[in-house]
Amino acid sequence: MSITFVPTPSVPTSDASVDHAIQAIVAGASTDATCTTDLAAGPWDFDIRPGYGPGSSMGDVIPTGAPRQGELPAEYREATEEELDRRIRAAKEVLGDRVVILGHFYQREEVVRHADYVGDSFQLATAAKDRPDAEAIVFCGVHFMAETADLLSGPDQAVVLPNLAAGCSMADMADIGQVEDCWEQLADVLGDLDEQDEDGRVPVIPVTYMNSSAAIKGFVGRHGGIVCTSSNAQTVLEWAFERGRRVLFFPDQHLGRNTAKAMGVPLSQMPMWNPRKPIGGSTEAELADSRVILWHGFCSVHRRFTVGQIDQARAEHPGVRVIVHPECPMEVVDAADEAGSTDYIRRAIAAATEPTTFAIGTEINLVRRLAAQFPQHEIFCLDPVVCPCSTMYRIHPGYLAWVLEELVAGRTPNRIRVTSDVADPARTALERMLAAKPPVAASAR
Ligand code: SF4
Repeated sequence: MSITFVPTPSVPTSDASVDHAIQAIVAGASTDATCTTDLAAGPWDFDIRPGYGPGSSMGDVIPTGAPRQGELPAEYREATEEELDRRIRAAKEVLGDRVVILGHFYQREEVVRHADYVGDSFQLATAAKDRPDAEAIVFCGVHFMAETADLLSGPDQAVVLPNLAAGCSMADMADIGQVEDCWEQLADVLGDLDEQDEDGRVPVIPVTYMNSSAAIKGFVGRHGGIVCTSSNAQTVLEWAFERGRRVLFFPDQHLGRNTAKAMGVPLSQMPMWNPRKPIGGSTEAELADSRVILWHGFCSVHRRFTVGQIDQARAEHPGVRVIVHPECPMEVVDAADEAGSTDYIRRAIAAATEPTTFAIGTEINLVRRLAAQFPQHEIFCLDPVVCPCSTMYRIHPGYLAWVLEELVAGRTPNRIRVTSDVADPARTALERMLAAKPPVAASAR
């Protein structure tokens, strides 16, 4: 696969830092609101407790046995922002080409500024392939992203997740045991899931969003299925409908519903599968008549956006252009002017030639960065409350400084590895997606 480099916009002219915004709110220097003042603390204050931490996912139930981060040494916990910045730069200088730092669009500004590549999860995983000589890939994102980078990187490359507590509540909503159980129950309802009809189609094709564990991607690979991203979900569903009479889509119900609806699939043929209910909480007739079975998963960041916020934006900013992410609920996507992936949003703003007011429905770190990078436009988050992704926010620059200095010292902390029994079929599912339509590459800085 080739990587094409897209120039990143120029240096921000205003402060993109969500941390600065939260600190100002907590100090009383700003009248903005945050969903929790706990965000002002360092993640090490809650790393020892189970849970996703303060922020958008704090109400979600974390699975038993979710990875926890060990205690960060005091020198990193107590360092100032400036000291951490200096130490990160110094360690990067020493490590040179031996390390590549990947930064997700939703990461803190204080972390993203050190990234060699910035992009969405799949863009970053493929960017890692562009640096085959790097011994370590420091993935500033969440756990499933580091797993995907491990799947696509060389066997001698170590993928490092700076804080092991950086999971994803949506990815955790479909665990491998639940998905295998679902598959067995579907076989009871739909018959032999490997048997092709006269058109050569099997009863159901499993499709997983990139935001899922490697185990789920492996399941999909073993059962004739495929991975999708928010950029190529429609292409992937077309691929699946050529091979199956229906699709089992997980873990994000909203991306599945929004995409299938845009393709003309009626809502009545999209029953929900709730893994806590017998046959997912639907009837056998509903499952038999279905075109897309939607897993009961969601992103707590994108679930915060509402039609009321869009109405308010339109009332206060006549002519506003509303763009939301397809992980938002259907009503929000329907009320927006456009819906698209993080990369779509970034490109749409970059392509606007006239000063424009944009109301954006996606994670606040990206929205604030875009506002700083494109000062010719007015860009604001639809959600007026500062509430970042809880788990992305666990990657504090203190952890980045720690892992880089450990690498300088010849140690490799927090390595993420996917075992070969899972990795091989997971790669198959990813390769099917790439053959269906390659997504756009990450931006090199
Ligand atoms: S924004 Fe949503 S999908 Fe992305 S890492 Fe956070 S919880 Fe997961």
